[in-house]
Amino acid sequence: MRVLGIETSCDETAAAVVTEGGDVLSDVVRSQVALHAPYGGVVPEVAARDHARAVVPVVREALSRAGVSAADLDGVAVTSRPGLAGALLVGLQAAKGLAWAAGKPLVGVDHLVGHLLAVFLRRGGAPLGDEHERPSFPYVALLASGGHTAIYRVDGPAIGAIRELGATRDDAAGEAFDKVAKLLGLGYPGGPVVDRLAAGGDAAAAADAVPALMARKESLEFSFSGIKSAVARHVAKRGRPEGQALRDLCAAFQGAVVDALVQKTVRAARAEGIERVVLGGGVAANQGLRAKMAAACERRGLALFVPPLASCTDNGAMIAYAGALRLAAGERDTLDLAPETRTALPRVTRKGGGAR
Ligand code: ATP
Ligand code: MG
Ligand code: FE
Repeated sequence: MRVLGIETSCDETAAAVVTEGGDVLSDVVRSQVALHAPYGGVVPEVAARDHARAVVPVVREALSRAGVSAADLDGVAVTSRPGLAGALLVGLQAAKGLAWAAGKPLVGVDHLVGHLLAVFLRRGGAPLGDEHERPSFPYVALLASGGHTAIYRVDGPAIGAIRELGATRDDAAGEAFDKVAKLLGLGYPGGPVVDRLAAGGDAAAAADAVPALMARKESLEFSFSGIKSAVARHVAKRGRPEGQALRDLCAAFQGAVVDALVQKTVRAARAEGIERVVLGGGVAANQGLRAKMAAACERRGLALFVPPLASCTDNGAMIAYAGALRLAAGERDTLDLAPETRTALPRVTRKGGGAR
């Protein structure tokens, strides 16, 4: 089975052709990062307009790199939620047009399900059946990106087999990196540059500037807006740090964010009695997170699975794969498929508290 996946939920126009087994035949990602950089964040209207310009060439390139035509496909998968409505609409229209014209089934994919299954993608002809790189179900997954930060229990690939155990109550982890980088005059996106600076810093030297992030509380929820405000107050009082002081502040900030992500993920795995941990989302690129998560998992006998970076950040391959599994299960959507701004994954907690 060969499935085309189209992703336009945020600031990447992406398309890929993937098999039901997770083999990535092509994966084209066109990032809008430079377009949004002057604004320090994603501007929805700018994103939608650029997706409209890019989606057809990106899809063509994905098909051509995979050496297939639309007629060779077994289906078309597209991110239908969650995301920016206008941005999602562009991908949906492209997917519907192609599916209709080629007479192929259409399936909508929840972007978060794509991220949570991206660990199964096999890139560049990796050996078949390597169980060391692919977890078995169930696993606990930390998804941390610019728009989402949550911990999930994944019992299987179907949407009903995935449950959110805890999420951020305010900013996403990547959003915190981006906002702090902006405060420090480091540009956008902030994650990679803060990560680099933190490597040469001493977190203890700037510990007074950032609070620990409710690391001891039993809750599996995150909150990252307080630490951003603490950095803002620090900068307002003392001015923007430079040189070693800047590196120390980055190390202290990153250390606090990473500690919260690691501790809560490990706590979730233990509470669920699950021995496998999977990372996903752009923040999974963070060197500090990778190192501390690896150490914490090793200490507690948990197996850690970290997909290659191309599978962690937004891409079409994870959408194609999640769609292929839906198609293989006999599911399909109609041409009425509409964009939704929210995920359909059930939550145990919600912004502001209360169970749902
Ligand atoms: P969505 O949240 O909808 O999945 P997104 O575009 O925000 O979309 P990604 O593309 O997965 O998410 O990730 C981008 C985010 O990851 C940005 O916030 C960026 O700062 C952060 N990021 C990237 N590299 C690093 C890093 N090395 N350390 C920390 N954060 C990073
Ligand atoms: Mg992105
Ligand atoms: Fe994403």
